[in-house]
Amino acid sequence: PAEPESPYRVVLLGASGVGKTAFASIFAGAADSMDSDDCELCGGEEKIKTTVVNLNIKSFLRRFWQHMQTGDAYLLLYSITDRTSFLRASELRITLRRFCPAQNTPIILVGNKCDLVRRREVSATEGRACAAVFDCKFIETSAAMQHNIWEAFHGIVRQLRLRRDSR
Ligand code: GDP
Repeated sequence: PAEPESPYRVVLLGASGVGKTAFASIFAGAADSMDSDDCELCGGEEKIKTTVVNLNIKSFLRRFWQHMQTGDAYLLLYSITDRTSFLRASELRITLRRFCPAQNTPIILVGNKCDLVRRREVSATEGRACAAVFDCKFIETSAAMQHNIWEAFHGIVRQLRLRRDSR
Protein backbone atom coordinates (compact mmCIF):
# COMPACT_ATOMS: atom_id res chain seq x y z
CA PRO A 1 0.00 0.00 0.00
CA ALA A 2 1.15 3.53 -0.75
CA GLU A 3 2.50 5.46 2.18
CA PRO A 4 0.80 8.68 3.15
CA GLU A 5 2.99 11.75 2.80
CA SER A 6 2.37 12.88 6.35
CA PRO A 7 5.32 12.24 8.67
CA TYR A 8 5.20 9.84 11.56
CA ARG A 9 4.67 11.58 14.85
CA VAL A 10 7.22 10.49 17.41
CA VAL A 11 6.45 11.87 20.85
CA LEU A 12 9.17 12.37 23.44
CA LEU A 13 7.55 12.01 26.83
CA GLY A 14 9.01 12.33 30.28
CA ALA A 15 9.55 14.43 33.37
CA SER A 16 11.16 17.84 33.05
CA GLY A 17 14.94 17.83 32.81
CA VAL A 18 15.44 14.26 31.63
CA GLY A 19 16.84 15.31 28.24
CA LYS A 20 13.91 15.40 25.80
CA THR A 21 14.93 18.71 24.29
CA ALA A 22 18.54 17.55 23.96
CA PHE A 23 17.27 14.41 22.24
CA ALA A 24 15.02 16.28 19.84
CA SER A 25 17.83 18.73 19.09
CA ILE A 26 20.09 15.91 17.99
CA PHE A 27 17.33 14.52 15.83
CA ALA A 28 16.73 17.89 14.29
CA GLY A 29 20.37 18.85 14.10
CA ALA A 30 19.49 22.16 15.63
CA ALA A 31 18.86 23.59 19.07
CA ASP A 32 15.25 23.94 20.13
CA SER A 33 13.62 26.05 22.74
CA MET A 34 13.29 24.69 26.27
CA ASP A 35 9.54 24.30 26.11
CA SER A 36 7.47 22.04 23.88
CA ASP A 37 8.49 22.20 20.27
CA ASP A 38 8.06 20.40 17.01
CA CYS A 39 10.80 19.60 14.58
CA GLU A 40 10.96 17.77 11.33
CA LEU A 41 13.56 15.15 10.71
CA CYS A 42 14.47 12.90 7.87
CA GLY A 43 15.85 9.47 8.69
CA GLY A 44 16.61 7.88 5.38
CA GLU A 45 13.31 7.67 3.56
CA GLU A 46 11.29 8.04 6.74
CA LYS A 47 9.97 11.40 7.62
CA ILE A 48 9.65 11.77 11.34
CA LYS A 49 8.15 14.60 13.28
CA THR A 50 9.26 14.70 16.87
CA THR A 51 7.27 16.40 19.55
CA VAL A 52 8.66 17.16 22.97
CA VAL A 53 6.21 16.96 25.85
CA ASN A 54 7.40 18.20 29.20
CA LEU A 55 5.51 16.63 32.03
CA ASN A 56 4.64 19.67 34.07
CA ILE A 57 1.15 20.77 35.02
CA LYS A 58 1.00 23.50 32.43
CA SER A 59 2.00 21.48 29.40
CA PHE A 60 0.19 18.46 30.79
CA LEU A 61 -3.10 20.29 30.50
CA ARG A 62 -2.26 22.02 27.28
CA ARG A 63 -0.73 19.27 25.20
CA PHE A 64 -0.42 15.94 26.95
CA TRP A 65 -3.72 14.33 26.10
CA GLN A 66 -3.66 15.69 22.60
CA HIS A 67 -0.36 13.93 21.93
CA MET A 68 -1.47 10.77 23.63
CA GLN A 69 -3.98 10.42 20.84
CA THR A 70 -1.87 11.46 17.91
CA GLY A 71 1.52 9.84 18.46
CA ASP A 72 2.59 7.05 16.12
CA ALA A 73 5.44 6.13 18.45
CA TYR A 74 6.68 7.15 21.87
CA LEU A 75 10.07 7.59 23.43
CA LEU A 76 9.47 7.43 27.15
CA LEU A 77 12.41 9.15 28.78
CA TYR A 78 13.75 9.21 32.31
CA SER A 79 17.11 10.19 33.71
CA ILE A 80 19.20 7.44 35.29
CA THR A 81 20.27 10.10 37.83
CA ASP A 82 16.71 10.81 38.93
CA ARG A 83 14.60 8.04 40.41
CA THR A 84 11.50 10.23 40.50
CA SER A 85 11.68 10.62 36.72
CA PHE A 86 11.87 6.81 36.47
CA LEU A 87 8.70 6.46 38.53
CA ARG A 88 7.06 9.09 36.35
CA ALA A 89 7.98 7.10 33.25
CA SER A 90 6.25 4.06 34.74
CA GLU A 91 3.12 6.08 35.39
CA LEU A 92 3.23 7.40 31.84
CA ARG A 93 3.54 3.90 30.47
CA ILE A 94 0.36 2.90 32.28
CA THR A 95 -1.42 5.99 30.99
CA LEU A 96 -0.20 5.32 27.46
CA ARG A 97 -1.57 1.82 27.55
CA ARG A 98 -4.93 3.15 28.65
CA PHE A 99 -5.12 5.85 26.01
CA CYS A 100 -3.44 4.19 23.04
CA PRO A 101 -5.91 1.61 21.82
CA ALA A 102 -3.42 0.31 19.24
CA GLN A 103 -1.66 -2.55 21.01
CA ASN A 104 1.35 -2.35 18.76
CA THR A 105 2.12 1.35 19.14
CA PRO A 106 5.93 1.41 19.30
CA ILE A 107 7.22 2.52 22.67
CA ILE A 108 10.82 2.61 23.84
CA LEU A 109 11.76 3.20 27.46
CA VAL A 110 14.87 5.40 27.41
CA GLY A 111 17.20 5.78 30.38
CA ASN A 112 19.07 8.96 29.49
CA LYS A 113 22.21 10.58 31.00
CA CYS A 114 24.07 7.28 31.24
CA ASP A 115 27.31 9.29 31.06
CA LEU A 116 26.69 10.46 34.65
CA VAL A 117 27.81 7.14 36.12
CA ARG A 118 28.54 8.46 39.60
CA ARG A 119 25.13 10.02 39.98
CA ARG A 120 23.23 6.93 38.88
CA GLU A 121 20.04 6.25 40.91
CA VAL A 122 18.42 3.72 38.57
CA SER A 123 20.31 0.63 37.46
CA ALA A 124 20.15 -0.69 33.91
CA THR A 125 18.73 -3.91 35.36
CA GLU A 126 15.81 -2.00 36.88
CA GLY A 127 15.18 -0.20 33.62
CA ARG A 128 15.23 -3.42 31.64
CA ALA A 129 12.93 -5.14 34.15
CA CYS A 130 10.49 -2.24 33.95
CA ALA A 131 10.49 -2.37 30.15
CA ALA A 132 9.86 -6.13 30.28
CA VAL A 133 6.88 -5.67 32.57
CA PHE A 134 5.53 -2.91 30.35
CA ASP A 135 6.22 -4.89 27.19
CA CYS A 136 8.33 -2.29 25.46
CA LYS A 137 11.93 -1.93 24.28
CA PHE A 138 14.63 -0.50 26.51
CA ILE A 139 17.81 1.46 25.86
CA GLU A 140 20.20 3.60 27.88
CA THR A 141 21.45 6.73 26.16
CA SER A 142 23.49 9.84 26.66
CA ALA A 143 22.30 12.86 24.73
CA ALA A 144 25.37 14.72 26.02
CA MET A 145 27.79 12.14 24.59
CA GLN A 146 25.49 11.31 21.67
CA HIS A 147 25.60 7.69 22.80
CA ASN A 148 22.86 5.31 21.57
CA ILE A 149 20.70 8.20 20.34
CA TRP A 150 20.59 6.87 16.80
CA GLU A 151 20.07 3.35 18.05
CA ALA A 152 16.94 4.59 19.81
CA PHE A 153 15.85 6.41 16.69
CA HIS A 154 16.43 3.40 14.45
CA GLY A 155 14.61 1.22 16.97
CA ILE A 156 11.55 3.40 16.55
CA VAL A 157 11.85 3.44 12.76
CA ARG A 158 12.23 -0.34 12.71
CA GLN A 159 9.08 -0.78 14.79
CA LEU A 160 7.13 1.70 12.67
CA ARG A 161 8.15 -0.21 9.53
CA LEU A 162 7.16 -3.53 11.05
CA ARG A 163 3.82 -2.12 11.99
CA ARG A 164 3.32 -0.59 8.55
CA ASP A 165 4.30 -3.83 6.78
CA SER A 166 1.93 -5.91 8.89
CA ARG A 167 -1.06 -3.84 7.88
P1 GDP B 1 13.90 18.24 29.06
O1 GDP B 1 13.31 19.13 30.11
O2 GDP B 1 13.48 16.83 29.24
O3 GDP B 1 13.68 18.72 27.66
O4 GDP B 1 15.49 18.21 29.34
P2 GDP B 1 16.65 18.98 28.57
O5 GDP B 1 16.92 18.36 27.25
O6 GDP B 1 16.37 20.44 28.61
O7 GDP B 1 17.90 18.64 29.50
C1 GDP B 1 17.97 19.11 30.85
C2 GDP B 1 19.43 19.29 31.23
O8 GDP B 1 20.09 18.02 31.20
C3 GDP B 1 20.20 20.19 30.28
O9 GDP B 1 21.11 20.95 31.03
C4 GDP B 1 20.93 19.21 29.38
O10 GDP B 1 22.13 19.76 28.89
C5 GDP B 1 21.21 18.07 30.33
N1 GDP B 1 21.29 16.77 29.64
C6 GDP B 1 20.41 16.25 28.74
N2 GDP B 1 20.80 15.04 28.35
C7 GDP B 1 21.94 14.76 29.02
C8 GDP B 1 22.83 13.64 29.05
O11 GDP B 1 22.66 12.62 28.37
N3 GDP B 1 23.90 13.72 29.89
C9 GDP B 1 24.14 14.82 30.65
N4 GDP B 1 25.23 14.81 31.43
N5 GDP B 1 23.33 15.89 30.65
C10 GDP B 1 22.25 15.87 29.84
